[in-house]
Amino acid sequence: MKTIIEPFKIKSVEPIHFTTEAEREKILEEAFFNPFLIRADDVLIDLLTDSGTSAMSAKQWAGILDGDEAYAGSRSYFRFEKAVRSLTGFKHIIPTHQGRAAEKILFTLVGGKGKIIPNNTHFDTTRANVEFSGAEGVDLPTDEGKKPDLIADFKGNMNVPALKALIDRVGPQNIPLCMITITNNSGGGQPVSMANIRDTKALLRQYNIPLFLDACRFAENAFFIKKREPGYATKSAAEIAHEMFSYADGCTMSAKKDAFVNMGGFLALNNDALAANARNLLIVTEGFTTYGGLAGRDLEAIAQGLEEILDEHYLTYRIRSVEYLGQKLVGGGVPIVEPPGGHAIYLDAKRFAPHLRPDQYPGQAIVCELYRAGGIRSVEIGSVMFGKYDASGKLVSPPMELVRLAIPRRVYTQSHIDYVIEVVLDVYARRTRLRGYRIIEEAPVLRHFTAKFAVLPS
Ligand SMILES: *Cc1c(COP(=O)(O)O)cnc(C)c1O
Repeated sequence: MKTIIEPFKIKSVEPIHFTTEAEREKILEEAFFNPFLIRADDVLIDLLTDSGTSAMSAKQWAGILDGDEAYAGSRSYFRFEKAVRSLTGFKHIIPTHQGRAAEKILFTLVGGKGKIIPNNTHFDTTRANVEFSGAEGVDLPTDEGKKPDLIADFKGNMNVPALKALIDRVGPQNIPLCMITITNNSGGGQPVSMANIRDTKALLRQYNIPLFLDACRFAENAFFIKKREPGYATKSAAEIAHEMFSYADGCTMSAKKDAFVNMGGFLALNNDALAANARNLLIVTEGFTTYGGLAGRDLEAIAQGLEEILDEHYLTYRIRSVEYLGQKLVGGGVPIVEPPGGHAIYLDAKRFAPHLRPDQYPGQAIVCELYRAGGIRSVEIGSVMFGKYDASGKLVSPPMELVRLAIPRRVYTQSHIDYVIEVVLDVYARRTRLRGYRIIEEAPVLRHFTAKFAVLPS
């Protein structure tokens, strides 16, 4: 088989800024060893997130100029509505400024004290909006999904027997809806199978509980189904996406992921009464029903992006390029969450730096060294992000210590990724000399964004 190439050529470029190791050492110190506090101009390869960082196509940029900025009834809204409806089949299409705004509206309406929202794994903003409404979010991943070194096709699946047990325990009247996140972002970017979506829906139907998809990476998920699930090899990604949405009663979407835009999202659903209430809330918090929190030009770019994302040359390249990074790292002995997910590679910091205890923040040590050695920005997903303290002030760590290398869509070429591989392998070769960190200042919530660190003595 021939090399899978980038299915685009480059029309417009943006220079990246080079720094020396000595400069980066100083920058790190000035940022208190927290990459969120580093200026983007001081980063060479930015793998902090795949959200809102995509390169737009020439046709999307053309749509930006063509956007209709009418307050009500904009032509761009109707193009957007048509694109989302033909993808999802949902009756009501409500634009929002990003995914969390759709979540806020949905959970304000269906959440509240005493309510339970099950999900294969809540993304952090989804959980925050569920909890902000007073409801409780329950994660129900499968046992496979919790093992970083286990290779399986659909580690993002919902644990259907656990969902049934939850419904029987708390009562269907307390579960206003169930969500499935595709792909499972907090669970390592792992896909969910069609059979699992179908089985979840079949169970929920018995109790009259609606199913909503957190659809941010629906196209990557559809492509994994095509590649891995029996019966789907000859179906198009678009047909598979239609089938996934056909089992759901609605979805929330961050268009900053699988719609290639820098800002945008939507809530889409079938229930007329819920949609009417959602539109009323939208007008209060986001804007009029035909623009939500967006400009007309943004709606054009989303409509165009939703067409482009289902191009199978793109999806082949996308999934292969993330897998390429994963395979090269595994080939060099680097421990990662396997198999590679759709949008990111997750380094397993516990096996990468076993000499560092969770309270010495092994993931943060790797993040800092990737930046110092190569100007690469990544993010710790472990005790820094999810750590809590018990009554005695002792750190309570999450089960996994990970470092996420998220790959922005259509932004970096293979030689950028080859460079990333070289830097990770170099840091891995020197892993026993990685030093731990301690936190010297932190916020009470979401501390990872602003915490300050100091290096522990060796
Ligand atoms: C990014 C994301 C969201 C939130 O979307 P924003 O556009 O960042 O508000 C929700 N769920 C998942 C799975 C995500 O990846």
